[in-house]
Amino acid sequence: MKAVTFEGPFKVAVKDVPEPTIEQPTDVIVRVTTAAICGSDLHVYNGRMPLPLTGWVLGHEYAGVVQEVGEAVTNLRPGDRVVGSFIASCGECFFCRKGWPSQCPRQQILGFSMAPGAQAEYMRVPFGHFTLEKVPEGVPDEKAIFVGDILATGYFACEMGGIQPGDVVVVVGCGPVGLFAQMTARLFGPAAVIAIDSVPERLELAQRLGSVAVDMGKQDPLAVVREHTDGRGADVVIEAVGHQESIRSCFSYVRGGGTIAVVGVYSEPEFPFPLFQSFLRDISFRTGICPSKNYMARLLGLIAEGKLDPSVIVTHVLPLEEAPRGYEMFAQRREGCIKVLLKP
Ligand SMILES: [Zn+2]
Ligand SMILES: [Zn+2]
Repeated sequence: MKAVTFEGPFKVAVKDVPEPTIEQPTDVIVRVTTAAICGSDLHVYNGRMPLPLTGWVLGHEYAGVVQEVGEAVTNLRPGDRVVGSFIASCGECFFCRKGWPSQCPRQQILGFSMAPGAQAEYMRVPFGHFTLEKVPEGVPDEKAIFVGDILATGYFACEMGGIQPGDVVVVVGCGPVGLFAQMTARLFGPAAVIAIDSVPERLELAQRLGSVAVDMGKQDPLAVVREHTDGRGADVVIEAVGHQESIRSCFSYVRGGGTIAVVGVYSEPEFPFPLFQSFLRDISFRTGICPSKNYMARLLGLIAEGKLDPSVIVTHVLPLEEAPRGYEMFAQRREGCIKVLLKP
């Protein structure tokens, strides 16, 4: 079968690889109908997150049709349309039962070092009975696919921020996760969502989602935040970039007693945390990798009801064969690229 493989920094290829087979009784083989390229795939693409092997199949955002189930899987059947979490977790351990599947000791993050990825014609989903969710009737792939990762991550950020009705929310970064944080923040009834970035097409989309879009290259974001909050600062600040400077900026945007929630992937070993300032200002700081399984069914319900349309961020739909061009475009933000879907 055809699959997108990592061949070294800035190099992906579409190659013929063996089709996956059932290895464990809880495995599910999915025929992938849509896969996406995620910002965290770029960490691998850029060579910042090394893979153990070249030739590894990439990708962890996927929707498809069940092809075959292991003997222990009783909740899914061949032919079911499904979407899955980017983390496969067991569903049975202490952490999975406590609502932290992202801390499951048996977890496998798809497309990284543990399990092969989703940018392929077929994929093996470990713990498929727990990792996969059925797609409601009438919801197309391009709306469903994001519930397993970036849409859930945006919602998770809002939940960590503890947004209350009437709050002013700042979202730093208008990439796919930042845009979804803005989209899901609306579900909490904020007075305003202020979105900060410097890429024109991303800001334009933020504005279409109802956010106050601030071009940090042209405006002073802090002045805009103060203007909307009687000079106090924002109740909740969500960071969706993962750079030191942008995380640092959250401390200036947040009000005393407010909350900062970081979902941008900051992969440096240390961060100079302003602890004394946070102590004096009663600032809560939260971060974490999204336990997306917790949110998938709920988000699919909201999509089916027409309350969320995540497909608005999709700018490019390419055949799987054109994945190398998709990676290049996404990494360099060329051609107005915000989100690429791949069709095997
Ligand atoms: Zn991802
Ligand atoms: Zn578990």
